[in-house]
Amino acid sequence: MSQQKTRNEIHWLTGQFRDRSNESKYRDYIEKSVRFESRFALIVVAVIFGMFGITDYNLLGLTRDYYLLLTMRIIVVSSCLILAFIIGRSGGYARNVWLHALPLWIVATGIVLIVPLRPESLSTQVTAIVVAIMAFYLLIPNLLTVAALASLYLSISFLSAAVAFAELSPVATVTIGLLIMVANIVGYTALLRIEFLQRKQFALLNEEREQNRHLEKEITHRKSLEERLRTAAESDALTGVDSRGHFMQRAEALLQRSRFEKAPFCLFMIDVDYFKRVNDTWGHTCGDQILSKIAEVCQHSLRPNDIIGRFGGEEFVVGLPNTNTSEAKAVADRLKDNVAALTLDGEMSELRLSVTIGIAVADTEDDDLDVLITRADNMLYVGKREGRNRVVI
Ligand code: GH3
Ligand code: MG
Ligand code: MG
Repeated sequence: MSQQKTRNEIHWLTGQFRDRSNESKYRDYIEKSVRFESRFALIVVAVIFGMFGITDYNLLGLTRDYYLLLTMRIIVVSSCLILAFIIGRSGGYARNVWLHALPLWIVATGIVLIVPLRPESLSTQVTAIVVAIMAFYLLIPNLLTVAALASLYLSISFLSAAVAFAELSPVATVTIGLLIMVANIVGYTALLRIEFLQRKQFALLNEEREQNRHLEKEITHRKSLEERLRTAAESDALTGVDSRGHFMQRAEALLQRSRFEKAPFCLFMIDVDYFKRVNDTWGHTCGDQILSKIAEVCQHSLRPNDIIGRFGGEEFVVGLPNTNTSEAKAVADRLKDNVAALTLDGEMSELRLSVTIGIAVADTEDDDLDVLITRADNMLYVGKREGRNRVVI
C-alpha cells in the first residue's frame, strides 16, 4: 500500500508524478485526448493570431511595416497549423514534449515581434500578452513545465522589447511587469491544480483497476476450486467413472424420465471376479491399475446415453435408459466379452480377467432405484454361484 502511495506522489512544483514510469503511463493514458484538444486549440490560436492582421492594416495601412507584420503572421499561423496537423496525426505528448512546446515558442516570438513594428499600440499588446499567457497555461494542453517556460520566455522578451522599442517609462515598465507576473502566477497555479487533480484521478482509476484485476483473479481461482471440488465429489478418484452418490442422482433422474416417457430402463450390477486373488498375487497397487483399466473397458463398452458409477470396491453399476431386456443383454454381453479379452502388459500378460453382471429391468411403476439395485445384485449372486464370467437377467 505504501509502495503505491510513493508511486502516486505528485511533485508540488511541476505537478508531475515523482515516479517516472507512473508519469509516462499517465501521459500515455491522456495522449489521445490531448492530441485532439491540442489540435483544436492550435487552430483557434492560429485563427485569432491571423485575424489581428486586420488591426495591423487599420493601424499601418499598406506600408512596409504592415507587409513585414503580415509575413510574420503568415509564418506563425502556418507553423501553428502544420504543428496542429502533425500533433493531430502523431501525438507525442508522452514522448515528444518539444513538439507541443514548439507552437508556444513560435507564437510567443510572433507576439514579441509585433512590438518593434507597432510600438505605438503597446497598451493593446499588453492585454494581448495577458490573454496569451492565460492561453499558454490553460487553453493549449501542455505540461506545466512546458507552459511555464514558454510563458516566461514570452513575458521576459516582451518586456525587453517594450523597453527597447516603445520607450517605456520606469513606472510603466514596473506596472506592466507586475501585471505580467500576476498573470503568470494565476496561470501557473491554475494549471498546477489541474495537473494535480488529473493525476489524482488517474491514480484512483489505477487503484480501482488493480482491485478489479485482483478480484477477477480471486473469482477465477474460486471457480477453479469449485470445479475441482465438484469433480472430486462427482467422480471416483481411482477409475474416473461417476462416484456412487453422483451415479445415484443421475440414475434416479433417468429412471423418473423413463417412467414419464413410458420407456424401458435397465440396470447392471457388475462385479469383478476373483479380484481378491489379483490383489493377493500382484499387490494392491497393481490391483488399482487393473481396476482402473476394467472401468475404462466397461465405459467404452457402453452407449453414449448409458451411465456408469463405481458402487464400491470392485463393483460397478450401470444405468441404461431407453433400453429393453434384449438390448441390455447385448450390451452386457459385449461388456463382459471386452473385459475377458483385456490383456495386460509384462508379467501380468497371463492374467485373465472377467466380470459377472446381474441385470434388473424396471417393469412396474413402483420399481424404484433401490429395488432395481437389489434385484440386479441378486442376479449377480446367481451369476457368481453359477460359475462367474456371465450375464444373468
Ligand atoms: P468374487 O467377487 O468373484 O466372489 O471374488 P472377489 O475376490 O472379487 O470377492 P471379494 O468381495 O471377496 O473381494 C473383493 C476384493 O476387491 C477385496 C478387496 O481387496 C478388493 N478391492 C476392493 N476395492 C479395491 C480397490 O480399490 N483397490 C484394490 N486394489 N482392490 C480392491
Ligand atoms: Mg465384490
Ligand atoms: Mg468380486
